[in-house]
Amino acid sequence: AEEMMIRSEKMSVAGQLAAGIAHEIRNPLTSLKGFMQLLQAGVNRKEEYYKIMIDEIEKMETITSELLFISKPLTDNRKEENVEVMVHEIVALLLPQARLKNVEINWKRQEKHKIYCDRSQIKQVLINIVKNAIEAMVAKGEIEITISASDSELEIAIIDDGPGIPEEIIHKLGEPFFTTKKSGTGLGLMITKQILEKHNGRLAIEQNISKGSTFKIILPLPSD
Ligand code: ADP
Ligand code: MG
Repeated sequence: AEEMMIRSEKMSVAGQLAAGIAHEIRNPLTSLKGFMQLLQAGVNRKEEYYKIMIDEIEKMETITSELLFISKPLTDNRKEENVEVMVHEIVALLLPQARLKNVEINWKRQEKHKIYCDRSQIKQVLINIVKNAIEAMVAKGEIEITISASDSELEIAIIDDGPGIPEEIIHKLGEPFFTTKKSGTGLGLMITKQILEKHNGRLAIEQNISKGSTFKIILPLPSD
């Protein structure tokens, strides 16, 4: 399969972010203002309007909390961490969501791999990718997580049998606010990419030969 690195091009990430935030916040605000004016004028579809307004507010809430994650200082909380334990924890966390969508998560807990990392950040990376895989599934699906290591690198592969990624959008993944979901924020992969860069690692995306896609988290192994 062909490996493709995610990169952001043209506008700086900060520029894309600023433009994106303005856009993503202005649209719900405009819509909120419109519905407020309707309510003020005394319409009778109040319940319907309140629901739309709450949805818009929730979207802004999600965006702002994800942005806060990005702006967190890059304090160095790096320690030697056990990879299998982190994977185990995030699988446990996402299992209820997976079950709701008829998605199975399979992984073999093999020998212990250790990496030097900020535990909560690498768990965030794992959550972002596995969550995307669950969300990509239509009626049901299977996610496989494999962990392997070479001399110098660790690789965690998240393989799904969902619909895959259309060729024409693959280069856009990881651009701030790029989403194909109705209530997506398009920030998950950008945050993922930034965390991995800070760890001198990278993200690789592959289209599976059969069905679905594979996201590979690649991180340097401690050289002892
Ligand atoms: P969001 O999840 O809010 O849409 P992300 O940055 O996490 O933002 O993902 C961006 C886009 O990448 C998604 O909207 C989706 O189109 C695509 N994507 C990510 N993971 C997968 C996957 N496993 N299968 C298919 N498409 C995916
Ligand atoms: Mg996501």
